[in-house]
Amino acid sequence: MISQSVIDKLKEIVGPDNILTEQEDMLTYSYDAAVLDPRMPGAAVMPGNTDEIGGIVSVCHENRIPITVRGAGTNLSGGTIPEGHGIVMLTGRLNKIIEINEADMYAVVQPGVVTADLAAAVEAKGLFYPPDPGSQAVSTIGGNVAENAGGLRGLKYGVTKDYVMGMRFFDARGNYVKTGSRTVKCATGYNITGLMVGSEGTLGVLDEITLKLIPAPQARQSMVAVYDTIEQASETVAAIIAARIVPATLEILDNFTIRAVEDFSKAGLPVDAAALLLIEVDGHPAVVEEEGQKVEALCKKMGAAGINVAQTDAERDKIWAARRSALSALAKLKPTLVLEDATVPRSKIPDMVKALQDIAEKYKIDIGTFGHAGDGNLHPTILTDKRDKAEFHRVELAIEEIFDKALGFGGTLSGEHGTGIAKAPFLEKEAGFSSILFSRQLRAALDPDNILNPGKITGVSADGK
Ligand SMILES: Cc1cc2nc3c(=O)[nH]c(=O)nc-3n(C[C@H](O)[C@H](O)[C@H](O)COP(=O)(O)OP(=O)(O)OC[C@H]3O[C@@H](n4cnc5c(N)ncnc54)[C@H](O)[C@@H]3O)c2cc1C
Repeated sequence: MISQSVIDKLKEIVGPDNILTEQEDMLTYSYDAAVLDPRMPGAAVMPGNTDEIGGIVSVCHENRIPITVRGAGTNLSGGTIPEGHGIVMLTGRLNKIIEINEADMYAVVQPGVVTADLAAAVEAKGLFYPPDPGSQAVSTIGGNVAENAGGLRGLKYGVTKDYVMGMRFFDARGNYVKTGSRTVKCATGYNITGLMVGSEGTLGVLDEITLKLIPAPQARQSMVAVYDTIEQASETVAAIIAARIVPATLEILDNFTIRAVEDFSKAGLPVDAAALLLIEVDGHPAVVEEEGQKVEALCKKMGAAGINVAQTDAERDKIWAARRSALSALAKLKPTLVLEDATVPRSKIPDMVKALQDIAEKYKIDIGTFGHAGDGNLHPTILTDKRDKAEFHRVELAIEEIFDKALGFGGTLSGEHGTGIAKAPFLEKEAGFSSILFSRQLRAALDPDNILNPGKITGVSADGK
């Protein structure tokens, strides 16, 4: 419970219309896109500017109240599931693009700016902000930075960390910290910016964020390669990378996902195909033409039964809208969807695809596989019903085996969805105990009262559980 005097202080800071305490409102902020048990916060507070963020952090620091910042709540690792006696800080009012600097190619934004809104605003100026998580229509830049979000263009353009030049944030004691710069290079002090990216709200509350922009590609070509076996598709991915071609996007969809997406989006996908590769090359028109031809030839050589090249922008948009609908399409099929994120070195994609098939068979569960194959980042998506205890137990065993396989192939537990609560218990398997200890010591030094998003990443909650 949060005391009435604290609620009154928070009300004074944000105004009475920007704080919620009713139980039915708390329900909304008790869960996110991860399949985890919900936890109701004590209050939800909506700051509208820097001073208000700082004021809230100071009140929470003085009263040892946990803070969980929430952007759109689309994270898939439980990063916004709050502590029962804590507050949720909503960033929806912090949605201003403060500056788009065309000369120096950067943007300064508040954390609640929606990713797609920023992408559209910079595109209107002939610039490009590449990180494009599938959730970009609703996800926020603050959430993207705190999760180090990836997206469909990770292969060529990298992920969020590659675009964060600097930021301002409040630490656990309410100090306003500036890190990074608006210059292309910055070598002063520790790389605090790097530390904050992917920190999932455990090291500070992000305020202004400075992002690198690049010139927009002059040309793009998208295509869909159709395969009779998923092995041929996954071997094509490895072959494209081995041929030193770096498409902007290289996505795979298995038959299970193709059928779900087609049913959902009516995009004209071939439902009998065992797998599809959705590929986009971009850059200078001459390079696009050359790389497009090379990719087409490689797909054919590796056994593609057909290749459809988008002829118009509308056809291109249709391909990517279909891909972006994959998760929603699969989510319609069963009550519970567990989206995994294990990532392997790209050459191991064929092995990982085979391992996923074996795991689905072994545990008698439905796994739809799609994802950023070019990054080695598959999203095996398990469809189940959490109320069926026996099946859900098999799902949990399957998830552990997916993690073990990915680590065995030299991979990682999460390519882009973060650790949160969901992967905290498994982190030691990947990073080792010293890494966990180092992280806990860092956190204890910066946040001795453990008020910043307790329980995430390092697995120690405010309750010490
Ligand atoms: C349909 C769908 C598709 C997706 N596709 C992708 C994808 O392609 N790639 C990918 O990487 N992810 C993807 N995701 C996961 C998710 O969208 C990303 O993790 C995204 O970055 C979360 O943004 P958000 O605004 O929803 O953040 P939230 O879920 O609200 O928060 C995420 C984390 O950031 C912290 N946080 C948020 N704002 C701040 C702040 N101002 N200061 C400090 N901490 C903060 C939160 O406390 C939490 O730990 C997808 C999710 C869905 C549902």
